[in-house]
Amino acid sequence: MIPASFEYVVAHSLDETVGLLAKHGSDAKILSGGMSLIPAMKLRLAQPAFIIDVNGVSGLAYIREEHGELRIGAMTRESALERSSLVKHGYPILFETARVIADPLVRNRATIGGNLAHADPANDHPATMLALGATIVAHGPNGDRLIPIDEFFPSFFASALEPDEILTEIRIPAPGVRNGGAYIKFERKVGDYAIAAVAVNLTLDAHDTCIAARIGLTNVTDVPARATRAEAFLVGRRITDQAIADASRLAAHESDPKSDLRGSAEYKRDLVRVLAGRAIGRAVSRARGGSH
Ligand SMILES: Cc1cc2nc3c(=O)[nH]c(=O)nc-3n(C[C@H](O)[C@H](O)[C@H](O)COP(=O)(O)OP(=O)(O)OC[C@H]3O[C@@H](n4cnc5c(N)ncnc54)[C@H](O)[C@@H]3O)c2cc1C
Repeated sequence: MIPASFEYVVAHSLDETVGLLAKHGSDAKILSGGMSLIPAMKLRLAQPAFIIDVNGVSGLAYIREEHGELRIGAMTRESALERSSLVKHGYPILFETARVIADPLVRNRATIGGNLAHADPANDHPATMLALGATIVAHGPNGDRLIPIDEFFPSFFASALEPDEILTEIRIPAPGVRNGGAYIKFERKVGDYAIAAVAVNLTLDAHDTCIAARIGLTNVTDVPARATRAEAFLVGRRITDQAIADASRLAAHESDPKSDLRGSAEYKRDLVRVLAGRAIGRAVSRARGGSH
């Protein structure tokens, strides 16, 4: 439980961070909240030679609406998302995600940027950001680069960030008329990773026909992924109980869970069906103007 030796430096600006990343390449790791990196180092799953602590870089923690988007600084702690009235009332799917991550102690340290950069398919933000169609802002030697969330998780535990880039911001399109979202997670006990979880974001027209839908899955695929066949099934269809049940079955088929201590693959796949049904139902209710 003792990490391998490493060099530690506190960065004070983005330029300094990028300079250090460029110099040390894949030997370096950014330290934000440390809630995933430090356990991985203690278990020696990660052995970076160089740690760049970015907690001294100012201006990376904020939640604000700008240019028709919700913009969240990468160093925003989960506890800040949980306490934000803008998030709670304007983006309930994000509130529901932040408040089920780990426990209050972890949420006081863990950052949204670290959660996404870690690219763990068991983490909760990836599915929600896939459902919301977020954009990731990466800062590197040539300035900012925008990465669509659909391209951000290329392979197992890997992100689309280059070794000399730092994730600085997450951009989420502001919800339009008759748009609603929901995140529903099932865990063994409070504070645990999901056995499975489903994020849904959809838009209805005035006649209750679904005109846009995105569904993200947590911990039931090798990389954070969308249930695209379930989405396609919903779009263009009037939302009925039968349509929700059929879409949920499709989402379950698209999941690819592994049997482990949290349950058998079969159990988890059926859990995806149940959670997808509940999350679609809640998202529809919110799109119709209900609070639940
Ligand atoms: C007890 C416990 C329970 C947990 N339960 C959950 C859970 O239920 N759901 C969940 O989603 N997570 C859970 N986690 C994991 C953890 O909360 C998240 O992964 C966390 O949000 C990571 O953020 P961090 O700021 O702590 O990242 P760090 O640990 O500092 O970094 C994680 C990785 O991301 C990189 N990184 C960090 N910030 C940046 C950046 N700005 N730009 C580029 N790379 C960066 C680091 O180099 C490292 O590779 C749990 C952790 C613990 C300890």
